Amino acid sequence: MPKLGPDILSNEFTVEGGVARLAAYGRENPDAEIAVVLLNQRVLAGLGNVYKSEVAFAAGVNPFRAMRTITTREMEVMVDVSQRYMKANVADGSSSLGGGEGIVTYSGNRRTTHSSNREERLWVYGRQGQECRRCGATVMMRKQGLQARSTYWCPECQPWVGMGETVAPLGRVSLVRRGKIGC
Ligand SMILES: [Zn+2]
Repeated sequence: MPKLGPDILSNEFTVEGGVARLAAYGRENPDAEIAVVLLNQRVLAGLGNVYKSEVAFAAGVNPFRAMRTITTREMEVMVDVSQRYMKANVADGSSSLGGGEGIVTYSGNRRTTHSSNREERLWVYGRQGQECRRCGATVMMRKQGLQARSTYWCPECQPWVGMGETVAPLGRVSLVRRGKIGC
């Protein structure tokens, strides 16, 4: 039985601890893709497949980037957002794992009445081919990792940052525009 990582929803969980955990895993697995790592319950316990895409979007991090390209600051934002999204959804009475039926990360103009349509409550998950809520670019989807889980992202808000030989994923063929996160 593999040991689980620290539970994001536990009272003992801290952003610092979560970042240390991600950084340690990244040092041992520099080529691992960040969104696959976010789903790895042995690194951090709690994030499901919907959160994975939503957290990477919120942090402006391309989900296919290798761990060795992820900065400490980006890890801090991702861990902080993970904790906030999960706590907010627990407070709403939604389940933290599972199919993400009740997860809300985007409330638009509706703060209190959440839409029953899941795709209207999320930034990118399930929104392939639709306009990004932030910049209007087309949201992409690709199967990722050994388990081929669906990953959704905005190629403009989450620019590709490669190193050396790394090849950009589909949807990101132009050069990286550094310093433009959160368009
Ligand atoms: Zn965008």
